[in-house]
Amino acid sequence: MATPRFTEETARPRMARLGAHSHIRGLGLDASLQPLSANVHGLVGQGRARRAAGVVVKMIQGGKLSGRAVLIAGAPGTGKTALAMGMAQALGEETPFTKLAASELYSLEMNKTEALRQAFRRSIGVRITEETEIIEGEVVELQIDKPLGGSMTGVEGAGESAAAAAAAAAAMSGGGKTGKLTLKTTDMETVYDLGTKMIDSLSREKVSAGDVVSIDKATGKISKLGRSFARSRDYDAMGASARFVRCPDGELQTRKSVVHTVTLHEVDVINSRQQGFLALFAGDTGEIKPEVREQIDSKVAEWQEEGKASLVPGVLFIDEVHMLDMECFSFLSRALEHPLAPVLVCASNRGIARIRGTDYRAPHGVPLDLLDRLLIISTAAYEFDDVRTIVKIRAEEEDVELAPEAADLLGRVGVETSLRYAMYLMTSAALVAAKRKAATVGLEDVKRCYSIFLDVKRSAQFLRDNANDYMYNEVGEEDEEVA
Ligand code: ATP
Repeated sequence: MATPRFTEETARPRMARLGAHSHIRGLGLDASLQPLSANVHGLVGQGRARRAAGVVVKMIQGGKLSGRAVLIAGAPGTGKTALAMGMAQALGEETPFTKLAASELYSLEMNKTEALRQAFRRSIGVRITEETEIIEGEVVELQIDKPLGGSMTGVEGAGESAAAAAAAAAAMSGGGKTGKLTLKTTDMETVYDLGTKMIDSLSREKVSAGDVVSIDKATGKISKLGRSFARSRDYDAMGASARFVRCPDGELQTRKSVVHTVTLHEVDVINSRQQGFLALFAGDTGEIKPEVREQIDSKVAEWQEEGKASLVPGVLFIDEVHMLDMECFSFLSRALEHPLAPVLVCASNRGIARIRGTDYRAPHGVPLDLLDRLLIISTAAYEFDDVRTIVKIRAEEEDVELAPEAADLLGRVGVETSLRYAMYLMTSAALVAAKRKAATVGLEDVKRCYSIFLDVKRSAQFLRDNANDYMYNEVGEEDEEVA
């Protein structure tokens, strides 16, 4: 049979996909909330907004902000989303952070307010503490049945790792997944029948006789803690079992507590009879009945009273909040009053704008009663130094070598046009440089791309100059604002 041949042409380089905010690693503030240099966390300038975001993070961490809301307001491309991402990083993985663009609500196959309710409950963590018995002791004997039809590769003469190899072989071959583990604690020997889970963790941890392990009795998970100090052995390589006599001193049988953090939404989905927990993997959770949520809320309150669970209010970030309509805004106002509300962080780049679906205008397109509940952080336009530094950080993130004069030009272009345009110009100039096989992006590459791709101002000017060539050309009040 012909073997397929892979040539240079067929082997394509793997494309690394970078997110727009992948260079943001935190808010870049020191303990007294003073901005650190840009290369610490990737955030540049916006000192006032960053300090304000730092105060918000501290309040969230101190539990002083749940049920409150923050609005990050500023012109397009002034780093509102970047700031929210920095907050998420500063809060750490333990704090649930849900990101939602308001326009997504209109494309979902579910009621807008149900989608918002799910987003709220995704942003509340439930930290569940489970008491479990952990047995610690030395593995005295480990026997894994030979997998039927499978080979016991590595067992014969493989020395101390024989049992582990047998476990791995058994686990991989999919057959013979049974066996016995004899564990010696200070005063007794305990024999465990090995189930699939135990065999899996034996092979993962490369456990062999003589190791000191812990077994979580609730989950069957085995973890290797180290090896015993002295041992005499009666080792039977062929049967993949071994015997060691000495066991470690000290208290071996202990109770430990294991903490899991899930979100209220995950608990809802798992307990919704229609959905079941597989829906969590499919992502298609559908609508959840109010009765299910009520039951969950009272169950969680019960766990809290019994000291089994605690709630972790997280953050719900709604970008382009002006895209919400009155129904959603009044939902938000009410939801923030619920005792289980997360911190709501919104962002908008609108000035005085029409509230969606109405004839009323309001600052940021947000109704005044909701605005009144918001702490507002504003972001400012960037100066030359900031734009140049951000473009250089992005270049590093994208593995692009920029000549200093090219970085200067991109900084100037960014101030004249926009930060986003300067960043796109850098990426396209890198492709032009690569085409001419240059390792560094030079001035000419940037100029070339500047002449190929228009920024918003030049594009609008082009439209005005050629207005008669276009169909349905109307210049209204709002279009003039853009131009
Ligand atoms: P819009 O109103 O259009 O949604 P925005 O204010 O949310 O814009 P971002 O998306 O945060 O703007 O910023 C545009 C790009 O510039 C992103 O890639 C972002 O990571 C980057 N950026 C913006 N500000 C900064 C900053 N201060 N430091 C580092 N990167 C930044």
